[in-house]
Amino acid sequence: MIIVLRPGATKKQVDHIIEKVKKLGLKTMVSRGVERTIIGVIGEEDILRVQPLEAFPGVEKVMSILKPYKLVSREFKPENSVIDVEGVKVGGKKIVVMAGPCSVENFNMLLNVGRKVKSSGARILRGGAFKPRSSPYSFQGLGEEGLKFLRDVKKETGLKIVTEVMDTRDVWMVEKYADIIQVGARNMQNFNLLKEVGMSKKPVLLKRGMSATVKEFLMSAEYVLSAGNFNCMLCERGIRTFEDATRFTLDLNAVPLIKQLSHLPVIVDPSHGTGKWDLVAPMAKAAIAAGADGLMIEVHPNPEEAFSDGEQSLVPYRFEAMMKELCVLAKAMGRDI
Ligand code: PEP
Ligand code: MN
Repeated sequence: MIIVLRPGATKKQVDHIIEKVKKLGLKTMVSRGVERTIIGVIGEEDILRVQPLEAFPGVEKVMSILKPYKLVSREFKPENSVIDVEGVKVGGKKIVVMAGPCSVENFNMLLNVGRKVKSSGARILRGGAFKPRSSPYSFQGLGEEGLKFLRDVKKETGLKIVTEVMDTRDVWMVEKYADIIQVGARNMQNFNLLKEVGMSKKPVLLKRGMSATVKEFLMSAEYVLSAGNFNCMLCERGIRTFEDATRFTLDLNAVPLIKQLSHLPVIVDPSHGTGKWDLVAPMAKAAIAAGADGLMIEVHPNPEEAFSDGEQSLVPYRFEAMMKELCVLAKAMGRDI
């Protein structure tokens, strides 16, 4: 159930409604938009049906959201959410590019890549310090040492940092260094992790599970928002289909679909979505044409030697060339990059 307030409803009126709803044993989430304030009510909605909430001062309408996801839905918040990552706005007119190596391998390589992607127009540096690998014998990431490298490259370049957390026990540590906490595809339905990052003050980038439907994806985001963190962006990174010529099938249908269903920003990762470096630029362009708010791209100076995902990583000069093409396309779409 959502309670939509009239434009200009006072704080006193909002507080009064919240107090009333809480007394009934229900949880509230307040979304203060530019236009109006909306109160989301979570819990057994039947209790509310007997309350004449529409009669409360300041209330315009009371709506029941039939979809299983409430706070992430467009009905809850009609305008796009714009997430402020220390001054970098995700979800606005400007398309945000997050780029960097799959894994943080060492400081020098990270700094080198960071400087190059920044000069090509990326505003956020990606790099995993905790790596979800299919084999326990593969490189697992540098852990906190890797996070420190990310922090140091941030200091040198001014790039913001997005990095993955895999374990609830590490959220406190990752949020100390990261500007955006990434929840990877394999953890999209790790509900305890979702609740934990939902309690963080840092923005979250939630990747779609490789076998998750759009509905399940949005339900996972609902976990993050319902724990109080509204700064959640969604990342389409490919799903598993019968097609095995590419690593995954990048589901670009999901981009305009999620933009219809939800107010949250949508990021596309064509690196994992294709698994092949020479498909990354074409699919990055397609993602922008489909309405993506941002891109996540793997870049490595020497893909042959990469600790992970070399085959899908762009070398810096190819990244630069792609960014130039994306600039033209973004303009054609009425956006900037
Ligand atoms: C990553 O971004 O490094 C990653 C592991 O991606 P995904 O969770 O989408 O596989
Ligand atoms: Mn990777």
